[in-house]
Amino acid sequence: MKTARGRVIAGTFFHAPSLGNVEVLEAALITVDERGTISAVERRDSPAYRRMHAAAAAAGTLETVPSGSYVLPGFVDLHIHAPQYPQLGKALDCPLEEWLARYTFPLEARYADVAFAHKAYHALVSDLAANGTTTAVMYGTIHQAANRVLVDACLEGGLRAFVGKVAMDNPHTCPEYYRDSSSEAALAGTQALIEYVKSRNGDGLVHPVVTPRFIPSCTEATLQGLAAMGRAQGCHFQTHCSESDWQHRYALERYGRSDAESLDWFGLMSERTILAHASLLSPRDMDLVKSRGSAIAHCPLSNVYFSNAVFPLRAALAKGLRVGLGTDISAGPSVSLFDTLRMCIASSRLLEEGVDPDLPPQRRGRKDARIDWRTAFFIATAGGADALGLRTGRFMPGNAFDAMIVDTQAHEGSIRIFDEIDTIEDVLAKILYGASRRNIVAVYVAGRAVA
Ligand SMILES: [Zn+2]
Repeated sequence: MKTARGRVIAGTFFHAPSLGNVEVLEAALITVDERGTISAVERRDSPAYRRMHAAAAAAGTLETVPSGSYVLPGFVDLHIHAPQYPQLGKALDCPLEEWLARYTFPLEARYADVAFAHKAYHALVSDLAANGTTTAVMYGTIHQAANRVLVDACLEGGLRAFVGKVAMDNPHTCPEYYRDSSSEAALAGTQALIEYVKSRNGDGLVHPVVTPRFIPSCTEATLQGLAAMGRAQGCHFQTHCSESDWQHRYALERYGRSDAESLDWFGLMSERTILAHASLLSPRDMDLVKSRGSAIAHCPLSNVYFSNAVFPLRAALAKGLRVGLGTDISAGPSVSLFDTLRMCIASSRLLEEGVDPDLPPQRRGRKDARIDWRTAFFIATAGGADALGLRTGRFMPGNAFDAMIVDTQAHEGSIRIFDEIDTIEDVLAKILYGASRRNIVAVYVAGRAVA
């Protein structure tokens, strides 16, 4: 199916409309209009099903998903450092503050070279889509030209994206070869990218996002200025919050407040804020995040390498926080949100059971921390969409058709279904635990094929 626009799709659809609940729309019909928005969802037993099926067949607009293939909402990746893509799978051997100085700032500084940016950003956008990611929230670099290349790559690739110019002007923590020359430069660069995105954003797929890298890398003037700018223009914000012991302590030492409290004090905690990691948030911090309506990008794979702790996802969800998933490329060494989702489940189990075998079982872990694949599926799709205020992630009228088709019978894929023992929910669990790029046969953003 080259496009889903103007088509009626017959197939089996999986989605997670609410936390912990999976819905199977078995042999259902979904109508997608010419703008890529779902206009109708009909179950097989609904009165309209037969009529719609017959009308679409007669009009030549019926697309039938082959048996053994299933439709899932596209993934929402809430945290990506686009310029770090060339480093994926490398440089995972030291703590965060050292990693920045030794590997990451030198790599990001290379984006003064537009040709390098072009190569990296086009590869990233195409790999994200091919792995089922339909919305990507991304940090760029400090470079104007390279950031525009990233915006253009998303537009050309048809990806739904939020792109931000990284602001980092603190001379005490950012090297001279890679930092905004002043607070004015950080603010002006951010404003310029906002205007560029708005000028290029014909069908509303790409959005600007105000991006103070994190508190350690910014001066007070920049943090305050960005908060005012983003609020005045109704932009989203993204930053890091309490990712590691070092970052968590940094704000406490500089401001005598937690990282979350400091971000709030500067005006950066809003309903449109995505906080990456939040691994070390205290219960009080979580209450603050909840009261401001900000969302968390949980990056479990990255957290293994850089966070010094496991984010208590279940506690955050129990408090009613909005949480989505992030790969955190390249601190998380995979472009696939399937890998992140799997680590999300696994790390919650590690948190619950504990990890030190020398401790007695009752002291080894943290009670009631585990989540299951249903919850992970929700936060990878609808949860991420909710974090951004997007109408995607669920198959319902009014939502954009952002979706992937997974072929469980792909010979070179990594899923094997046994009809004798697998229920329809088992099929979904096997997709979530087993799917690889070979199984993902089509990906759509607003009804347009992007992979
Ligand atoms: Zn990050």
